[in-house]
Amino acid sequence: MAVGPGESFEPARHVAKSDELAGRIIAITGAGDGIGKAVALACVRYGAQVILIGRTVRKLEVVHAESERIRPDAVSIAPLDLEKAVASNYDELAAAIETRYGRLDGLLHNAALLGTLTPIEHQDVQTWMRVMHVNVTAPFILTQTLLPALRRSADASILFTTSTVGRKARAYWGAYAVSKFAVEGLSQLLADELERPPQIRVNALNPGRTRTMMRRQAYPAENIETLPLPEEKVAAYLALLGPAGRSVTGRSFDCDISDSISGSVSGRK
Ligand code: NDP
Repeated sequence: MAVGPGESFEPARHVAKSDELAGRIIAITGAGDGIGKAVALACVRYGAQVILIGRTVRKLEVVHAESERIRPDAVSIAPLDLEKAVASNYDELAAAIETRYGRLDGLLHNAALLGTLTPIEHQDVQTWMRVMHVNVTAPFILTQTLLPALRRSADASILFTTSTVGRKARAYWGAYAVSKFAVEGLSQLLADELERPPQIRVNALNPGRTRTMMRRQAYPAENIETLPLPEEKVAAYLALLGPAGRSVTGRSFDCDISDSISGSVSGRK
């Protein structure tokens, strides 16, 4: 068994070296906005080649332009609507990654839908199914499709995005909370399946309260200006996608150092 950083590993405290991700190929879903965009640009800054997966091409092009100013030719754009994608769309993405890069070292499942915050008795069935599909089923399919490329990496990392309400449920969070419980389960299950050498490490990460569109949608009355920017959350992503997290698998982490699974969930997502 490879020796990793151990139980005391705290990705949120990680300080990346300037070229820490050099040579790594990392794919990120929902890379056009919010946390996904910030992590994508941070990965570029620290040396990675990044595949921007997202549904709104215009947003991906903006990230591409910003990336060019950091380091030219460091990103490629892969339009994929996780709600509508069919098998051939996933296969085309896998083939494009294979052709251009030959392998994949990191896969960040970041895209998600919030759905509607309402009691279970009023949850709209169609919305429930959309949320479960984008947040759980699509990451499952994408992982399955990209496993061959991940197996060609010497140190592959799969990272799922979880949430406080995916560990301790809270009234009205409906499909979103249930989907994040499922993400935690999928992450644990995959970590167990992929533990044998050559290991692919699999972990979950909760960004905690962050100033994004989704947060605004969840808490419309909140003064969002008081919340941390996505750029302030990237340390843990860099640690878990890069060599710092080597051999760490089957765990669920927080970006906010003060958060814990047993901690109060009031006002958190
Ligand atoms: P944003 O709304 O800023 O970003 C969500 C991203 O998901 C967008 O890029 C969006 O694409 C993409 N997306 C949504 N639906 C689809 C789809 N059908 N196909 C492809 N991409 C899609 O939210 P955040 O940055 O806040 O969220 C990122 C992750 O962090 C999510 O998993 C969320 O659950 C999690 N999280 C966020 C917290 C917060 O406080 N912000 C707290 C805890 C967890 P597009 O831009 O095209 O709409």
